[in-house]
Amino acid sequence: MTLALSNAALQMLHAWGENTRARSYVHRPTTAAGLQAVFALAQHTGLSIALRGAGQSYGDAALNSEQIVVCLAQMNRITHWSPANGVVELEPGVTLAQLWRHCIGDGWWPPVVSGTMFTSVGGCAAMNIHGKNNWQAGNFAQHILEFTAVLPAGNIVRCSATENSDLFHAIPGSFGMLGCITALRLQLKRIHTGLVSVSALAAPNLRTMLQLLDENKSSSDYVVGWIDAAAGGAGLGRGQVHAATYYAPPFAAAHAQSLQLQHQDLPARIFGVFPAHYAWLGLRLANNAPTLRLVNALKYLSARLQHGRTYLQSLAAFNFLLDYVPDWKRAYRPGGLVQHQSFIAKENALAAYQQLLQACQDARLLPTLAVLKRHKPDSQYAVSYCPDGYSLALDFSAHARTRHRLATLLAQLDQIVVASQGKFYFAKDSALHPAAARASLGAAALRNLTVLKQRCDPENLLQSNLSRRLLPELHAPE
Ligand SMILES: Cc1cc2nc3c(=O)[nH]c(=O)nc-3n(C[C@H](O)[C@H](O)[C@H](O)COP(=O)(O)OP(=O)(O)OC[C@H]3O[C@@H](n4cnc5c(N)ncnc54)[C@H](O)[C@@H]3O)c2cc1C
Repeated sequence: MTLALSNAALQMLHAWGENTRARSYVHRPTTAAGLQAVFALAQHTGLSIALRGAGQSYGDAALNSEQIVVCLAQMNRITHWSPANGVVELEPGVTLAQLWRHCIGDGWWPPVVSGTMFTSVGGCAAMNIHGKNNWQAGNFAQHILEFTAVLPAGNIVRCSATENSDLFHAIPGSFGMLGCITALRLQLKRIHTGLVSVSALAAPNLRTMLQLLDENKSSSDYVVGWIDAAAGGAGLGRGQVHAATYYAPPFAAAHAQSLQLQHQDLPARIFGVFPAHYAWLGLRLANNAPTLRLVNALKYLSARLQHGRTYLQSLAAFNFLLDYVPDWKRAYRPGGLVQHQSFIAKENALAAYQQLLQACQDARLLPTLAVLKRHKPDSQYAVSYCPDGYSLALDFSAHARTRHRLATLLAQLDQIVVASQGKFYFAKDSALHPAAARASLGAAALRNLTVLKQRCDPENLLQSNLSRRLLPELHAPE
């Protein structure tokens, strides 16, 4: 198959956070052979290629200005499903929504999911995503039994724990820099109902919040902390912890209907009243400091009143809370939103996160969302970002009028994280500087990644706006 570069393929693509965009030659192969033809086209034209799954990365990880973007959304077939053992074979463009909807009726669930169900499994593998159960279930790639990748030179490699095991631990997490995953075999998680039992716990400050995440680790399958970033002084870092377990009562059959799709569908109305489709308008109206303070204070008050309450929630509702409001990023237009997510070892986390929250308050830039998770190390992968510790994700509006102040604040937050030997996660990044990215990866991992890059992609075809922004040395080794 021979392809030509056509202006008809020129298209404007956005980062999910709509904080940046880029025009590219977009190709949408439907087979591995079609993908190989795009690699041949890149070699022929001297252009680079960025891979793109569902385009749900917050920043520029799947953008490639004036170059080629290969969008894998049309390689989205589930090719084999085995309800007996929960093993699924699928193409990279299958979304998590497609996957869980296919398997839940048989009593299986993806063991690691992102906060939105609209990511693709290829994108989840390429970033080695984490869920609210990371300290226990590890990252997405830990549940891949085998995958196939097309390397930029056109050769196809099959990778598992026993075959090409170095690439099995290098391509996942390497943000699309080594090869394109074209097929995966995943092990799903057995579930007995489509429900989790959630305990809601109030935390009056950050120290208690971290303690609650830790204390609930052994008895829960998921833990997450929602922080009121507006609270200061003794209440700095206060908020609510949700600790959830897969619901498996002795008479699970009584809850069989919870495995049906209609039981998992997110509600069409918020609080049973407002059409979810227009709820972003409400978020937009609330997107200012006084309202954010008020909403956070009311949420914390409600957290105190609900302390210790336990309730059942569908797996989709618990895991994909952010999808309750379709297209909620519209609340941030026209500047978009930026997320700062940092990963810090447990010994340094309290002090570092207190500093981060205080810095936001001092800069008078309130995060619209602040979320804490618990992690375990993912150091078996060539690109690793999870420590035995915590992560804090902070969402900010990128208004034109505060853009400069926000850039200054983000640089300050990065310094605090680097000084605490913390790490960053490229799937969420929009603003990191190369020095911080290198510190996050570590010199040895960067050297190793550069060697792998030369081996898998000697002509340097795979690039993205993010890779050139953060790690230019990957594309121009000495
Ligand atoms: C609302 C929201 C909530 C989120 N919550 C979480 C969360 O809880 N945990 C978490 O870890 N992340 C989270 N994310 C981030 C998201 O999971 C990652 O950015 C993920 O990589 C997006 O998948 P995608 O299919 O959209 O990939 P894209 O954004 O399209 O691409 C991501 C990267 O993968 C590469 N890539 C894509 N497909 C392939 C392939 N087939 N082979 C090789 N490389 C490929 C791309 O080049 C790019 O570098 C969230 C994102 C959003 C928008």
